[in-house]
Amino acid sequence: MTPKLSKSTQKNTSTIDEDALAFDRDHIWHPYTSLTNPLHVYPVVSAKGTRIQLSNGKELIDGMASWWSAIHGYNHPILNSAAKTQLDKMSHIMFGGLTHLPAIDLCKKLVELTPDSLNRVFLCDSGSVSVEVGMKMAIQYQQALGKTNKSNFLTIMKGYHGDTTGAMSVCDPVSGMHHLFSNFMPKHCFMDAPQKSFNATCNNDDVQKIELFFERNAKDAVAFILEPIVQGAGGMRFYSPDYLKIIRRLCDDYGLLMIADEIATGFGRTGKMFAVNHADVIPDIMNVGKALTGGYLTLAATICTSKVANTICNGQAGVMMHGPTFMGNPLACAIATSSLDLLVNSPWQERIASIETLINFKLNKLIGSKFVRDVRVLGGIGVIETKELIDVQKAQAFFVEQGIWIRPFRNLLYIMPPYTIHPKDLEKLCEVMITAIQMEELYV
Ligand SMILES: *Cc1c(COP(=O)(O)O)cnc(C)c1O
Repeated sequence: MTPKLSKSTQKNTSTIDEDALAFDRDHIWHPYTSLTNPLHVYPVVSAKGTRIQLSNGKELIDGMASWWSAIHGYNHPILNSAAKTQLDKMSHIMFGGLTHLPAIDLCKKLVELTPDSLNRVFLCDSGSVSVEVGMKMAIQYQQALGKTNKSNFLTIMKGYHGDTTGAMSVCDPVSGMHHLFSNFMPKHCFMDAPQKSFNATCNNDDVQKIELFFERNAKDAVAFILEPIVQGAGGMRFYSPDYLKIIRRLCDDYGLLMIADEIATGFGRTGKMFAVNHADVIPDIMNVGKALTGGYLTLAATICTSKVANTICNGQAGVMMHGPTFMGNPLACAIATSSLDLLVNSPWQERIASIETLINFKLNKLIGSKFVRDVRVLGGIGVIETKELIDVQKAQAFFVEQGIWIRPFRNLLYIMPPYTIHPKDLEKLCEVMITAIQMEELYV
């Protein structure tokens, strides 16, 4: 047994000493980890720009943008100022029966930035919640049309949509370990993951497979949900825009809604403002999150067409049946508005293009390496798929020693740095990745 709180933790909360770390190890869950055999965690005291400051004084170049979110880097003076200004007015107020400019300004921006017919905004507290809301919208939409027998979702293998149960039920069933929750989770229909890569085109065979999938499964389905172009946490895969066009056409033919989960891809990461822009496809419902606040606070949105909204509101329920306590949190909204302004007024396309060029140039050296199965680069995302599983703890110890921050999973070593990363820092990230990939001792 460990004491509830050690004296030193109680007295001095600003330093991270051994006692604090022992408390963390014994009491605090980190994402997807064990509490009896936890992976090592590195104490961080601050972050600025593209650098993370560890408590031992070591500085790390950030290759992760805190999971797609910190696109402008950390501790940005403009976002800090937006936060402080809003803080002095109110950090939160309930959204039921009240409204405020931070939410209005943000939703105006979202309507402006997203494809044309997406113009009704539901603000959510996290990406997973926004997926739940999108799924509920689709169910309410079909019910309002009298299709009450429909309750299934169509999706693709290797997807990731979040960790709440509804979202999890449309994640890849293998990597999401669906068997653990099989009696609890609704069962949906999974199509093979797209096989044609980003620059490839779909042939008749591909089209027919998708048509057959719809023919078999669309009858009971309310919507097709997928991550457009980039499948993130389910495998870091990039696929041909053709799939989106085919799925859009079939959703229309079968009366299904199309839900595009842009939580990872939204706001420029793939080189377009949204990944659906690569295919010129407009979904009926779009999820955004992650980079929305520039990585400052948790906030997401589910944005739908007026047709979806009107149908739901003319239906039996008459309302959208959802309303989180922290809906439209003003502090998060004010920062998000400021972050989107910062983005659209920055040369983000050029930045992403040069990140893509540099990663390509560096990582292409690995093609043909005996350790590597595939190298993929798209926009501000660089992925090395290795043949063997990577030992996360050992790999991270090596990266930290080398002064960089990257967190691999399974056999995927990847970066999606802040858009503001300096080319020298990006080169260093790539060089350390290349060295690591050739170290036998970093594999399981
Ligand atoms: C991260 C992510 C989510 C979940 O977002 P949270 O904010 O972690 O709940 C959903 N979909 C995609 C594509 C994501 O990358």
